[in-house]
Amino acid sequence: MLEIVTLVLGSVGTNAYIVADALSREAVVIDPAWDGEVIGEEARRRGWHIRQVWLTHAHFDHIGGIAALVRGIQPAPVIALHPADRSIYAAGGGAAYFGMRIETPPEPTVQLQHGQHLEMGDRIFEVRHCPGHTPGHVIFYCAAEKVVFSGDVIFWGSIGRTDLPGGNYDLLIHSIQTQILSLPNDTRLLSGHGGETTVGVEREDNPFLG
Ligand SMILES: [Zn+2]
Ligand SMILES: [Zn+2]
Repeated sequence: MLEIVTLVLGSVGTNAYIVADALSREAVVIDPAWDGEVIGEEARRRGWHIRQVWLTHAHFDHIGGIAALVRGIQPAPVIALHPADRSIYAAGGGAAYFGMRIETPPEPTVQLQHGQHLEMGDRIFEVRHCPGHTPGHVIFYCAAEKVVFSGDVIFWGSIGRTDLPGGNYDLLIHSIQTQILSLPNDTRLLSGHGGETTVGVEREDNPFLG
């Protein structure tokens, strides 16, 4: 069984998730948004060991905490990113566009691909490529836990913006329809900003999905 802790961090209120296997106490951080030392301290307080960092995409508000998070951890956690977001990652996540800067994170060590399986304790997460918000955006789906970490693809009653470099509205809608609305209605959607929702609720009520 997995335990999930949500921390809302940074100037645009990004959800950073710590996902831990209750048995082994090993943990993954999905999108270390900001304040990496706060994320690390939360894991330590719970007796969890952070082994991996999975990134839905490379915008600064999702990667800003990586450098401070991994600094204190031995062995260094895996950092997993889709290669199509490498250029955004190398450019500091686009922080300069918003007049901000982040501490430069270490290079990713795992290149995510569509259909890849990632292990977390005895659970398997499927990587699904969902371009549109950024070219290399992925989501992490665990069928056994009925949960998907959806980053900035879809939110409670909204969808990701597509006006930033590499954004594409039609592609985003296509990604949502093929990769998210294809999941069971009772799948929890834990997104990059705002509260939790489900696939079924968004299928019914999301005004952007007619
Ligand atoms: Zn984003
Ligand atoms: Zn975001």
